[in-house]
Amino acid sequence: MTNIHSTAAEMASALAAKEISSVELTKQHLDRIAAVDGKINAFLHIDKAGALEQAEVIDKKRASGEKLSPLAGVPIAVKDILAQKGIPTTAGSKILEGWRPPYDSTVVAKLKAASVVILGKTNMDEFAMGSSTENSAYGTTQNPWDLARTPGGSSGGSAAAVAAFEAPLAIGTDTGGSIRQPAALTGIVGVKPTYGAVSRYGVVAYSSSLDQVGPFARTVLDTALLHEAIAGHDERDSTSINAPVPQVVAAAKRLDVKGMKIGVIKELSGSGFQAGISARIAESIELLVAAGAEIVEVTCPNFEYALAAYYLIAPSEASSNLARFDSMRYGLRVGDDGSRGAEEVMSATREAGFGKEVKRRIILGTYALSSGYYDAYYGSAQKVRTLVKQDFDNAFAKADVLISPVTPTTAFKIGEKSNDPVAMYLSDIATIPVNMAGIGGMSLPVGLADEDGLPVGLQIMAPVMQDDRFYRVGGTLEAALLSKWGQPILSKAPDLTVQK
Ligand code: GLN
Repeated sequence: MTNIHSTAAEMASALAAKEISSVELTKQHLDRIAAVDGKINAFLHIDKAGALEQAEVIDKKRASGEKLSPLAGVPIAVKDILAQKGIPTTAGSKILEGWRPPYDSTVVAKLKAASVVILGKTNMDEFAMGSSTENSAYGTTQNPWDLARTPGGSSGGSAAAVAAFEAPLAIGTDTGGSIRQPAALTGIVGVKPTYGAVSRYGVVAYSSSLDQVGPFARTVLDTALLHEAIAGHDERDSTSINAPVPQVVAAAKRLDVKGMKIGVIKELSGSGFQAGISARIAESIELLVAAGAEIVEVTCPNFEYALAAYYLIAPSEASSNLARFDSMRYGLRVGDDGSRGAEEVMSATREAGFGKEVKRRIILGTYALSSGYYDAYYGSAQKVRTLVKQDFDNAFAKADVLISPVTPTTAFKIGEKSNDPVAMYLSDIATIPVNMAGIGGMSLPVGLADEDGLPVGLQIMAPVMQDDRFYRVGGTLEAALLSKWGQPILSKAPDLTVQK
């Protein structure tokens, strides 16, 4: 029986076989959202009418024998940073409250073209700045594994929606870890594709040289199906790569890693990572060896500077990108009563519309870019970026893929790090190098930490435009883990209909 607990691939084949209609499947998910989202707060906007209408159109097309794409009729949740025509798009900020984009982002257009049913927009840290969803102007999202904990961030709403069976698929964005980290903390799969592999057109910009859109799902295959639906060259994004999309679906189905060399990054293992995380990673390595992979140790000495350099580059780009929120063109306008000039209205609007973390980053970025300090800060950070990329190049000369934990700890408590920006920034210590180098990475759930029973994520990284490699390794390891556990990891999560 197809239901909300099925995989997206199972839903798609049941839809194709007409065992269930898209309207029924969409209703099941809308019912689930109604039942549990009061506890999770994954959604900022639920487009009930739009989703049902879309589902009905797809059902009619199917009934008339029209050839549909592989995910046709399957529901999805979309991070509220992607423009969707006519649908509120806030990027988690008060400054965009009430803005309804007059156009679709390329990814949303591709989802519509693939006949995927968009259920609504998901919660996130304001402008994707954060690692816990606590920086959202619309309240934090709760982790389905433990409502007192964060689901990670910034794409925490998307991850929580998938983990809580409110949607089988979701879209996120990842600038320094915002897909991989929440995937790890909620026990699902999340992928940051190679930079430029998925269009950024219509995605509210945070740090343009690092931002990347990517898929969330509960299995590697589902993630791959969504990846193929959204990837590809887009002439409206000048950094979009004009090359064929890697065959990630085929790679996810391959279930074999014989002869592959897997590099373990020395600097991202051992002390600094929670014991239960290291234990699950060690077991995963054993399973990969049993499946025929060869393990090599690699060293990436410049990773220790990556986090510091990221917190110069990302805020610098953000300070420039967020200048467009000037109270004239979008959303909020404060103090426009005829008594003030444009600059005063702008400053009152930005004061009222931006949250604390966003202001912190604008100040930091503006400072780092100021003429007297440019070379010392921004210039040096760019040099570190080159060194991080060289570390990856050297490591990939010895290994086909690299692995590490995704996060130093499992899901932390709401409030635990919210007053300590540096502690929060450290959540992304293992994910940021990937964005700096423009390569792709996957977060795969590999078990629960013994000390707290919370999900652990393994990060698998591959060279630019070789994203199929981490799907191959991820798919193989997922199958090995499933046969060891006997059931998917999310079956161990508490029942949300009884959890208080
Ligand atoms: N936590 C990191 C930041 O706050 C990464 C966020 C992201 O990937 N969007 O910048």
